[in-house]
Amino acid sequence: MPGFDTICLHGGYEADPTTGARAVPIYRTTPYQFKDTTHAANLFALAELGNIYTRLQNPTTDVMEKRVCLLEGAHELGGLGLASGTAAVFNSIINVCENGDNIVASSKLYGGTYTMFNNILPSMGITCKFVDASDPSNFAKAADDKTRAFFCETVSNPALEVVDLEEVAKHANEIKVPLMVDATFSTPYLTNPIAHGAHIVIHSLTKWMGGHGNALGGCVVDSGTFKWAESGRHPLFTNKDESYGGLRWGIDLPAPLLPLAFILRMRTVPLRNLGSCISPDNSWAILNGMETLSLRMERHCSNALAVAEYLLTNKAVTNVRFPGLPTDSQYEKQKKYIKGKGGSMVVFEMVGGVEAGKAFINNLKLISHVANVGDCKTLAIHPASTTHSQLNPEQQKDAGIPPGLVRLSVGIETIEDIIEDIVQAVKAAEKASA
Ligand code: PLP
Repeated sequence: MPGFDTICLHGGYEADPTTGARAVPIYRTTPYQFKDTTHAANLFALAELGNIYTRLQNPTTDVMEKRVCLLEGAHELGGLGLASGTAAVFNSIINVCENGDNIVASSKLYGGTYTMFNNILPSMGITCKFVDASDPSNFAKAADDKTRAFFCETVSNPALEVVDLEEVAKHANEIKVPLMVDATFSTPYLTNPIAHGAHIVIHSLTKWMGGHGNALGGCVVDSGTFKWAESGRHPLFTNKDESYGGLRWGIDLPAPLLPLAFILRMRTVPLRNLGSCISPDNSWAILNGMETLSLRMERHCSNALAVAEYLLTNKAVTNVRFPGLPTDSQYEKQKKYIKGKGGSMVVFEMVGGVEAGKAFINNLKLISHVANVGDCKTLAIHPASTTHSQLNPEQQKDAGIPPGLVRLSVGIETIEDIIEDIVQAVKAAEKASA
């Protein structure tokens, strides 16, 4: 098995046998020509795997999916690329839930995911019970016989809670539901959730995986470890699927494909019929980013630690949070789950409160004020009035977002320049709120 860095560069691709193209080409084609009608029928019946139409699969996206799977330690056919991280979360949930079903999720989530679970899915009859993930037994306590999955983020956005995945997975296995983990904030470089018992891994590739703030994408990885036919909880995998010729996904697939029933169904039912596909151009840009994932993550993490250590010394700043600080409540868990490197995110509050926090952001020069994370460039935002503004004050509190919280996604610029910008913006904020 090649090493992590080798997979980042080579996983899922060998120089094109026809053209010799060494870099992964962008396949900008919508359909693929069938050899004959038998070939076409076999592809549609899953009797043979191959390209049909770019909404379903694409050779550029295929390399990206395989590479993410290999980085996650999964079977290389276990991946599915989607238009965004949001689409990856949504399609994962509707691949196991129908009207009347529910999921149990950590209350500390990215704002868009929270809104999806709290407002959008309920309008389709799928509800979510939010729990405090710091006690993993809360997941099992909230579950009932209609629960179809547990959901959490490896490191939550923006509360930076590191979830004890092994404990949550233990409870998931006890009641036979899959544990779905959004691993956007850790990337496969810092953690492989499958190695800690997760069944399904979800990435927004828009963030550190792509790393350059120039492409949207998502990917879902099926560990192949969940036994859909045996759970007694997943009729979408044991009842006849009338949208797919009466196939029972967890029972009727050929034996070698059965472990991948989740991802095959997701490609062939929700992706095929709802259409949240990723464009080959975005898969290509993300593949370019992934080539340098290890190098970037090392610098992201060391810069974030330096920023957090500096902020601790600044008297105008309070409640500095970075999981890699020995004083941080998540420090022990991050040693186990994210290699003790802390990640790339730092959050804090200004002593001067919300107005000082806003003034800090308004006075940044090098650091960009944008709704994104995981870019090579350092980014800042005030979550309560932007990314998490759909949550009411009580929900923001449960999500770990005080009103004055400032979120920094620390980039890979020269560390002295990042700190210099923070120093001058803090000074300006102090003056503005004096
Ligand atoms: N998951 C997490 C943890 C995120 O932070 C985000 C976006 O910030 C998403 C999912 C959604 O990803 P995308 O913007 O690619 O839809």
